[in-house]
Amino acid sequence: MIKVEGLTKRYNRFTAVQNIDFEVPKGRIVGFLGPNGAGKTTTMRILTCFLPPTSGTATVAGFDVLKQPMEVKKRIGYLPESPPVYPEMEVHEYLSFVGRLKGIPSADLPKRVKEVSERCNVADVTTKLISKLSKGYRQRVGLAQAIIHNPDVLILDEPTAGLDPKQIHETRDLIRSLAGAHTIILSTHILPEVEQTCDEVVIISKGQVVARDSVRNLTSRLQGQEAVAVEARPGEVAGDAGALEQALRAVPGVSTLERRGAKGGLARFEVQSEPGQHVRGALARAVIGAGWDLEELRPVALSLEEVFLELTSSEKESGPEVKQ
Ligand code: ADP
Repeated sequence: MIKVEGLTKRYNRFTAVQNIDFEVPKGRIVGFLGPNGAGKTTTMRILTCFLPPTSGTATVAGFDVLKQPMEVKKRIGYLPESPPVYPEMEVHEYLSFVGRLKGIPSADLPKRVKEVSERCNVADVTTKLISKLSKGYRQRVGLAQAIIHNPDVLILDEPTAGLDPKQIHETRDLIRSLAGAHTIILSTHILPEVEQTCDEVVIISKGQVVARDSVRNLTSRLQGQEAVAVEARPGEVAGDAGALEQALRAVPGVSTLERRGAKGGLARFEVQSEPGQHVRGALARAVIGAGWDLEELRPVALSLEEVFLELTSSEKESGPEVKQ
């Protein structure tokens, strides 16, 4: 439904987005995740035809953002970071106004305004001035205007920024309920947002895509690294837990080791391997060699946060430079 190839955007000499590629299949909800300044808004503005790319292509439902912007705009609903609402209008007036701009016939407007107001939980405030609404309501009015012409694609820029936890929860539920009928890209710099709302994630850092995968795969894969939880019980001739820790650290291929709190007489550790190193066998031998009994040795999934930090920080050190 959305296809981005070799997309680059320069603002004068500054490269905000550099040669990015990704695709979003129909009906999916994809998180565009990256620190502030990564290039998320720039990419979204290109997809919504607000900005022309410097090079590369982006298509929505097969239509090119540069060559067929009218076709693209018909199929896209956009919620920018600050909802484009008019404070002096009542909610229903504003939604009718946007509906007219988006080409909805006058005869269908009242019905459509009612439908999206109910869909986005703003039906109880339709006769209120937008200036009198809470931020959560205003955001939902923003969503209602984005879906009023029933677009195939929704582009949501930081849709929960500035909301309180209850509003965040409601907005995430609403966004999830819109997936399927709509293909959605949402940008965020908050990891739980992606974990809780999206099927897939595109991680962007310094204008480049550093990873894209399903949320599940990304958390279980980190360039071949293994994370292993080790639990051991002292045997008859065991040294202390400090000696066991030393023995585990000395296993070739171990990159980090953290001690977890002891539980029920067990010593507990979490070990990460270097990329491509399989350390489980050697860890088991090290436990036995130190005179301890192996109680448990199990792989643990890295959290998306760890994956994210790893990918965005290694890119800073070794990735291609983005010209300033
Ligand atoms: P994000 O949405 O991920 O926070 P943006 O796309 O807003 O990132 O910005 C990416 C980079 O481009 C930032 O360093 C920002 O300062 C720069 N930038 C954004 N808009 C402009 C502009 N109109 N002129 C110059 N630089 C810009």
